[in-house]
Amino acid sequence: MTSTHVVIVGAGFAGINAAKKLGNKKEIQVTILDKKNYHLFQPLLYQVAMAGLSPAEIASPIRSILSKYNNINVAIGNVTEINLQDQTVKTEFKNYKFDYLILACGATHSYFGKNNWEEFAPGLKSIEQATEIRRRVLTAFELAERENNPKKIREYLTFVIVGGGPTGVELAGSLSEMAHFTLNKEFKNIDLKSTSIILIEAGDRILAGFSPELSEHAKNDLIKIGVTVKTNTRVNEINESGVRIGDDFISSKTVIWAAGVQPSATGKLLSSELDRAGKVVVNEYLHLAEYKNVFVLGDQACAFDKEKRPLPGLAPVAIQQGIHTAKNIIRNCEGKSMMPFSYFDKGQMATIGRGRAISEYSGFKAHGKIAWFAWLFIHILYLVGFRNKVFVFFQWIWSYITFGRGARLITKQEWKNNDG
Ligand SMILES: Cc1cc2nc3c(=O)[nH]c(=O)nc-3n(C[C@H](O)[C@H](O)[C@H](O)COP(=O)(O)OP(=O)(O)OC[C@H]3O[C@@H](n4cnc5c(N)ncnc54)[C@H](O)[C@@H]3O)c2cc1C
Repeated sequence: MTSTHVVIVGAGFAGINAAKKLGNKKEIQVTILDKKNYHLFQPLLYQVAMAGLSPAEIASPIRSILSKYNNINVAIGNVTEINLQDQTVKTEFKNYKFDYLILACGATHSYFGKNNWEEFAPGLKSIEQATEIRRRVLTAFELAERENNPKKIREYLTFVIVGGGPTGVELAGSLSEMAHFTLNKEFKNIDLKSTSIILIEAGDRILAGFSPELSEHAKNDLIKIGVTVKTNTRVNEINESGVRIGDDFISSKTVIWAAGVQPSATGKLLSSELDRAGKVVVNEYLHLAEYKNVFVLGDQACAFDKEKRPLPGLAPVAIQQGIHTAKNIIRNCEGKSMMPFSYFDKGQMATIGRGRAISEYSGFKAHGKIAWFAWLFIHILYLVGFRNKVFVFFQWIWSYITFGRGARLITKQEWKNNDG
């Protein structure tokens, strides 16, 4: 009997969960392609950027995650072409013929057409970007320490984060704690209590995906730990000297972008319908209307809940879609019809800093220590790999007791002052 070949592109939350569900299924062969050799737990990337965790603690090799499944072949490759007529996927090395295709390549940054800002304000989507942000932040403290000019010290100690969503809030809270509680004991020439962290949000409140009451809690928590929150504030320009907001200019050597995302460009390879953001429109079975064997999942899919609202770009959406699609493929192989996807909303949470978080589930709202412990527990639970769970758990206990940051390495050193 010939087996069915499922090609999965992207070993993120959607792809890896689809693969696991198809693992060791008789008469199904799976090839999972990714341009990287590891699965990345993006929700903890900000901790790498803020020197709390090392990259390997939030990433696991795809091969090792899937090693126990004999029917799964892992291949590294960048998908550059998809031919739906021939049912093939092309990478720079090889072509793969498929019976079913799952496309789950996630999202990347959007600078809303101002791509030149990226050089001055890196975003946070990959390990490389997280370590680059870490380098810039730690270097700014070092350069301030050896500087005599008070104006320049101020510029080094001013950090601007653009975007008041969960990533911006987590970065701002963590940076403030690092400056005020961890580093201030170690730097002798500068007063790190004067570090200025400015969080800029274009909308009228931060964490707009949460209820107004919880975003107000988060804002107050940020203010308490020394973050300046500017809402209704639109950035007009970012350059090597700082950020322009209307007629004002904030001089800063370190700007971080946490404001916008756009779906992976691989969606365009399908020549299928895209929504305004560029996500591939899928039906209730998560496949293309014209191709029942081509599924698009996670951050690059435009899918809807039962009330016809678009599903958010969150890990639980991608995980549930991956599992559901694998089940539908198995059903199809058994001669059964597919089941429509229905998202089970487990709520959402965001952390602001030590002992401070907010969480919301079906009208139930929590903030403070309870929400923070729930956040810690959920993130350890979902982190991939037993080793990573153990390492991160002990890192967090150590950091909580000592206020320490274990990963304060400046790699790719550039010791010249940023202005020449
Ligand atoms: C900083 C940050 C914090 C976040 N925090 C949270 C949070 O707290 N809670 C939450 O629920 N969600 C959070 N998210 C969102 C969550 O991570 C995403 O919704 C989720 O990762 C989407 O899963 P996915 O499978 O669609 O894509 P991803 O997990 O992004 O995986 C996509 C995969 O596709 C691969 N790929 C891309 N292009 C190609 C190509 N051309 N060829 C081959 N492979 C390719 C990539 O290498 C990657 O492995 C956060 C995201 C970020 C960036």
